[in-house]
Amino acid sequence: MPIFQHSFLRQYVAARLTDIKVAPDVAAMVADNLVDACLKGHDSHGVTMLPRYIAAIAEGGLRPDARATVTLDAGAVLSFNGGQGFGQVVGRQAMDAGIRRAGEYGVAVIGLADAHHLGRIGAWAEQAARAGLVSIHFANVNSRSPVMPWQGREPRLGTNPFCVGIPVAGGGHPVVLDFATSIIAGNKARLAWNAGQPLAPGCIVDDKGQPAVDPRWLMTEPFGALLPFGQHKGSGLSVVCSLLGAALTGGMTERHDNRDKQRILNSMLSIVIDPEKLGGADNYQQEIAGLLDWVRSSRDDDALLLPGDAEQEKYQQRLAQGIFIDDTSWRQLAALEAPGVATL
Ligand code: NAD
Repeated sequence: MPIFQHSFLRQYVAARLTDIKVAPDVAAMVADNLVDACLKGHDSHGVTMLPRYIAAIAEGGLRPDARATVTLDAGAVLSFNGGQGFGQVVGRQAMDAGIRRAGEYGVAVIGLADAHHLGRIGAWAEQAARAGLVSIHFANVNSRSPVMPWQGREPRLGTNPFCVGIPVAGGGHPVVLDFATSIIAGNKARLAWNAGQPLAPGCIVDDKGQPAVDPRWLMTEPFGALLPFGQHKGSGLSVVCSLLGAALTGGMTERHDNRDKQRILNSMLSIVIDPEKLGGADNYQQEIAGLLDWVRSSRDDDALLLPGDAEQEKYQQRLAQGIFIDDTSWRQLAALEAPGVATL
């Protein structure tokens, strides 16, 4: 059960990418994003994604040199095509532009179609929050669609993440609500499978639609399905994430089946708001701190978490104690060093 310091993993992931001729600056951006996801406690979107990324590059579904191209520039409304480039690169390009435009206009609506995997969506909300901006993100996933719509009989949807980031004045970490619209993110099933552990009851069904806990139902044929969170509400939000994240931005919805490919495409609609320009800045700053205190006061110990707290706690803990990777996942990463893989 290896435990690694984040600095080692940053260097290790970047090296596996430069081994296959990914540009060093791109490799470093990808490595930092994946390691930061681990530090924030989301191993499902961390360094164990690397073998899949490298397989997608080999297949041609992930284009490591691609940059986002502007498809519409109308001031506060900007659209990009991600060109199946690393989400860590084209996502940053899109958010950088959104932050600049929100500074200029008070708000920016940013479309990003067909990026490769954007990773932990909370990272983009944190980028906006560091610039003092609120952001709202709707994203879809074009890959094998593992999620059963509410009352469905066959899986149809991606794990379509939704995220909101809200900066908190006075140096507090931002509120970041960031989740898959499935009960668990799909990659959590992969990690459970690698670790030989069952999933919690209520997350998945088998190929007959019966409740199941064995992650094999998401890993090998015949496939079962992941369930949406919150019954019809999560299922509805998932549909909205696909309609806004992909259909509205020119990206691929789950309708375009991608089950045999390694690539994971995300399309995302982001709305970035400058709270200073919205008019209620003073009230907003007071109310945010006041409301967060009010909710925390629901109990008199520190056990109640608000969105973003869990990630902050994990970050401090893992910076100090390191990042755990299960044996199987580590073997998959180490296999990338094997002769032949390095010359894909
Ligand atoms: P999750 O179920 O762990 O929920 C995370 C959210 O809940 C965070 O906002 C966190 O602060 C909050 N939270 C956690 N514990 C809490 C508590 N005790 N009280 C109050 N709030 C709490 O997340 P998930 O659904 O498994 O998603 C994990 C990650 O996967 C997310 O970062 C998401 O963006 C990412 N994801 C990405 C894709 C993609 O294709 N790029 C797809 C799906 C999910």
